[in-house]
Amino acid sequence: MTYLISGESGDWEVVIGLEIHAQIISQSKLFSGSATGFGAGPNTQVSLVDAAMPGMLPVVNGYCVAQAVKTGLGLKAQINKHSVFERKNYFYADLPQGYQISQYAEPIVGEGTVVLDMPDGGTRSIGIERLHMEQDAGKSMHDQDPKRTFIDLNRSGVALMEIVSKPDLRSPEEAGLYLRKVRSILRYLGTCDGNMEEGSMRADVNVSVRPFGSDELRTRTETKNVNSVRFVMQAIEAEARRQVEAYDDGEEIVQETRLFDADKNQTRPMRAKEFAHDYRYFPDPDLLPLVLSDAEIDAIAQELPELPDDRKDRFIADFSLSAYDAGVLVAERETAEYFEKAALGHDAKLAANWVTGNLFGALNKAGLGISESPVTAEALGALLGLIGNDTISGRIAKDVFDEMVETGKGAAEIVADKGLEQITDTGEIEAEIDKIIAANPDQVNDFQGGNEKAIGWFVGQVMKVTGGKANPKVVNELLRKKLG
Ligand code: MN
Repeated sequence: MTYLISGESGDWEVVIGLEIHAQIISQSKLFSGSATGFGAGPNTQVSLVDAAMPGMLPVVNGYCVAQAVKTGLGLKAQINKHSVFERKNYFYADLPQGYQISQYAEPIVGEGTVVLDMPDGGTRSIGIERLHMEQDAGKSMHDQDPKRTFIDLNRSGVALMEIVSKPDLRSPEEAGLYLRKVRSILRYLGTCDGNMEEGSMRADVNVSVRPFGSDELRTRTETKNVNSVRFVMQAIEAEARRQVEAYDDGEEIVQETRLFDADKNQTRPMRAKEFAHDYRYFPDPDLLPLVLSDAEIDAIAQELPELPDDRKDRFIADFSLSAYDAGVLVAERETAEYFEKAALGHDAKLAANWVTGNLFGALNKAGLGISESPVTAEALGALLGLIGNDTISGRIAKDVFDEMVETGKGAAEIVADKGLEQITDTGEIEAEIDKIIAANPDQVNDFQGGNEKAIGWFVGQVMKVTGGKANPKVVNELLRKKLG
């Protein structure tokens, strides 16, 4: 995907790296036993450790560690058997400790790879630099009172994974694909729910530009806490444009942290970029280095589910689907599972078309996700069965499907109630054809005079008198025989 921004000074290329903060699915926090559920009343899920009372000691949550390892394996990444929790020191009102426990020099996960499924059916590999574990901070609430800011510490201490990509992304579209793919992998793994509206996944977007064709890395800016795929793409676009315009005007880009304003569709400065040494990282003296054994890592590897890339390959091999169709079907775990159930015992290509066409259409219209589908996978499978054994035509099946969505009834019941069975009895169809031919000598002459397209008119007439129930293949064959 070549994505260029033209400026007065020529064409510019965008260089993007993403840091994704993903909340680990876990009952309790990274260093305390407090609950992590979303939507609880303010400060109802805060232990003395989360509130940073003096003398409290953090105890690492083994389940969160296993979740991070699992994620690393899912990202095809190096798992580091020795990693270290460090204190990242800064002052903020919603950070009672005065530091965040994070990992710095020795993260739990090293380099990995995420494969993007491109719109043309091809793929592109994006490098993962590292994944480290850290605590989330609390939340300042500025909209509760005109004069005061309130603090909710429910999030304080919740386990996060920070997944850092290499600067391999080259367009807003690629960044969007990457974010969706990482989210898909995390959801397959069950390590993060990927719910960006609830803040369980958010991205910091690093953007720089360079003259097209050069391989230099210029000064980048970091746009913080962007909380939807669409906003990430818009923020990149806006920030890249701003940088190109600055270079065109002979200005320099300063390394800084910015915020994206979705209403104005622009980024604005938040603070001068801090450097790692500003945080005075040092190993947390309350925590031992985190040491993993091969046996522990192997046990987690044994639990890995089939991931989207493997499932895509299997769908292509087993069901002869195109790379594109397979990519669409595996993007969400629920969709892939729905498709496999619906396709069981039926024509897989037909099943794929029904899932990505009629079903997605109906769900979009109703604003529903696939897990809330009014038509279950088994029910769609039953409809496919009726098409497959010629009980109904594909055209009638669309009407039956619409009624299934509306009423929740099964396909067989609707077909029986309305007498929609396809007419394949050649005698019955032949009788109708004879009548139509006898009544329309002009059309017959037209066809026999060489107008091949006139056959369509005859097919239409037969369908009309049979209420669309005649088997189109039989109709075509008989018509050609009779019209000579
Ligand atoms: Mn972080």
